[in-house]
Amino acid sequence: MAKINVKVNGRKEKIEERASLRDLFNKLEINPEVAVTKLNDAIIDKDRYNETLLKENDEIEIIFFMGGGAFDFSEEEIERYSRHIILPEISGQGQQKIKEASVLVVGAGGLGSPVAYYLAAAGVGRLGIIDSDLVDLSNLQRQILHTTADLDRPKVESAREKLQAINPNIEIITYNQYLNKDNVLEIIESFDLVVDGVDNFPTRYLLNDACVMKNKPLVEAGILRFDGQIMTIKPGEGPCYRCIFTRPPAEGTIPSCQEAGVLGAIAGTIGTLQATEALKIITGVGKPLIGRLLIYDAKELSFREVEIRRNPDCPVCGDNPTITELIEYELSCELHQQTEEAGDNE
Ligand SMILES: [Zn+2]
Repeated sequence: MAKINVKVNGRKEKIEERASLRDLFNKLEINPEVAVTKLNDAIIDKDRYNETLLKENDEIEIIFFMGGGAFDFSEEEIERYSRHIILPEISGQGQQKIKEASVLVVGAGGLGSPVAYYLAAAGVGRLGIIDSDLVDLSNLQRQILHTTADLDRPKVESAREKLQAINPNIEIITYNQYLNKDNVLEIIESFDLVVDGVDNFPTRYLLNDACVMKNKPLVEAGILRFDGQIMTIKPGEGPCYRCIFTRPPAEGTIPSCQEAGVLGAIAGTIGTLQATEALKIITGVGKPLIGRLLIYDAKELSFREVEIRRNPDCPVCGDNPTITELIEYELSCELHQQTEEAGDNE
């Protein structure tokens, strides 16, 4: 088919003869909702995009909504997020919510890697990463934020580099420290939602309790060997982690990934689901995993869902909570030593 030349926002474009304005928007992957169009001298309503055929040397100005409470995307951002923006469920409005959102990813390890990658790529405006570990050789089998060249570097530094390279438009805040009862409330305070990517019970309980106390949504997950599980906790709307697991298991009864192993790709599957849940909560799209524990069995390749109700006797989110101050469970000294050295965030 013959091509014709038109000018779009001052730039030459070659398009099919008899292409419509709609075809042009499709070709440029621009959601017609986010802009108005001036064709030569006239503003064309988007209802007429289909019937408006383009001719040689037409001059088209696509003028994007900006400021004024509408969307404030640059042209670069519109193109970068075009695959989101063309989804009717997300559109410019949803992408604006993503841009305005802030998410704290706890742990830059196996789970935290895909979570942070996808949230950065999606354009989450403020992304916090907390991890006190250095990159260890045994991490590289699954912690895909880090490369061989990053060995012995702080994980948050390595993470920041990769994430900023994917998306220079977002703000990345790093915390090179261990989450504890003295800093957790203050750190989660400034984020809209928290994603748990840790592999130790003290931090998992600490995060759950802190998020319940601060009313922050928490996307909770764990992985071990060939299995994974994930649940979204929205305080006030559904159960929390303690509604299922009231107290941590007796010390030494549940192995960690570093003791029992984990198939690296499991972290990818579960971490990607966590990122999806975070984006659903931010945009309000779909039904989050609230009150539903999703269990993944990679050997069988099966997913199972267990319905969980809020426990009125839950010590932290129940009707008469007994835990009103944060508790820090102790890791055994030996295990703690290992985690400090080897890194334990999943
Ligand atoms: Zn609870």
